Amino acid sequence: MNVYDSARIKEMMLTEDHQFVDKIEQADIYIVNTCSVRDKPRQRVINHIKHAKNINPRLKVIITGCVAQIEGDSLFSEGADFVIGPDWYKELPALANQTDKESLNRDHFLRTGFKVDNPEFLQANPLRTGVSAFIPIQKGCNNFCAYCVVPYGRGPERSRPVDEILKEISVYAEKGVKEIFLLGQNVNSYHYKEVTFYDLLGKIAALFGVERIRFTTSHPKDLSEQLISTMASTPKLMPWFHLPLQSGSNRILKLMHRNYNREHYLELVHELRRQIENISLTTDVIVGFPGESEEDFGETYSLVEQVGYDGMISFKFSVRQGTAAEKMENHLPEQIKKDRLVRLQTMFENQISTNLERFSGKICKVLVEGKSRRSRDEAKGRIPQNIFVNFKLNGDLVPSELVNQIVDVKILEVRTHTLYGQMM
Ligand code: SAH
Ligand code: SF4
Repeated sequence: MNVYDSARIKEMMLTEDHQFVDKIEQADIYIVNTCSVRDKPRQRVINHIKHAKNINPRLKVIITGCVAQIEGDSLFSEGADFVIGPDWYKELPALANQTDKESLNRDHFLRTGFKVDNPEFLQANPLRTGVSAFIPIQKGCNNFCAYCVVPYGRGPERSRPVDEILKEISVYAEKGVKEIFLLGQNVNSYHYKEVTFYDLLGKIAALFGVERIRFTTSHPKDLSEQLISTMASTPKLMPWFHLPLQSGSNRILKLMHRNYNREHYLELVHELRRQIENISLTTDVIVGFPGESEEDFGETYSLVEQVGYDGMISFKFSVRQGTAAEKMENHLPEQIKKDRLVRLQTMFENQISTNLERFSGKICKVLVEGKSRRSRDEAKGRIPQNIFVNFKLNGDLVPSELVNQIVDVKILEVRTHTLYGQMM
């Protein structure tokens, strides 16, 4: 979401006659788009401001993102000039123009809080397109998982109007973009008037030119039978599902306010695999939530091992100000969290190649993204299951000729987290 926001902010600024410069010395405005999901975001932002102003004292520093929303005007005393929360980005170009002309009769500018009744979504500028187009369909989140700061940084859940989404995707499709990536904190609960998430997926799949549709993130509590059957019956919906687990222990899931249990999660995995052929599953896991015992951790470990994911993003619990978990008892020592994370990741690293082995020898449809990192003569792209593949080309072809095309690739080998193959 933040990568998307940063790209849009950059585009908005460029269309307003600003230029992008590589060096802080040459800049008038420095925008730091921030995330506060983990670690020490406030300190990192302050370090950024200090570093930038040391190099260029006349720089105007604009802080955007969740840290701006959560820390608000306290960032002014740290050197920030403007603090702009996620619901206010449309004002950025005008603000920056005022900065240029020095017509702003105040040093500091604060825009935080949420536009609840009439949320604004940044409009894409479809002139610049890559292989995939990222389309936000939702803002915010209402779930208040006990560890998570997102509802405080991004506000309540609001779904984007259907027409706006379809129009934006159509413009991308007309420009030749084949892959659409829908973004939201909890896309399964998308709801605009009568239109549910699976209705929306059906409408997008009906658009001419769109060939691959992906979405993230799904919350297990909102994953419906209708969504699974829509995926199973709609070839443009790619066989990949990111289904955050967070913990495999029912006791911890309850403390996390996740509203599902281990058994329900496993049923969902079973149904996804039963209905969608060769689906790829990926997940997020948190270890070391307050009060997590060795036994609780063991349940997470065994569930991850049992499911056999194709990708896992795992984190140590990081305490976030204002969340329910902050006030809980039995916060764990850093060393225990670290140790559990290492154990979980080691098991996963040992398992992932075996999980990916099922693609060996298969011919997969690959949407080509460009040349591979290792060799200029080889190309890279993703298979429908969203797994990267590097591959050798036929004859005299060069990777740039194939960008944005879907080609057949025979998988020859499984490498760490990726596949390797030969174009057919
Ligand atoms: N809306 C998405 C994810 C949002 S944040 C969802 O519900 O899955 C992305 C991931 O960051 C989460 O899935 C979680 O695993 C991790 N995360 C969020 N808060 C965290 C915290 N306080 N400590 C460690 N990991 C956290
Ligand atoms: Fe955070 Fe939970 Fe919302 Fe995801 S669903 S953004 S983890 S509160």
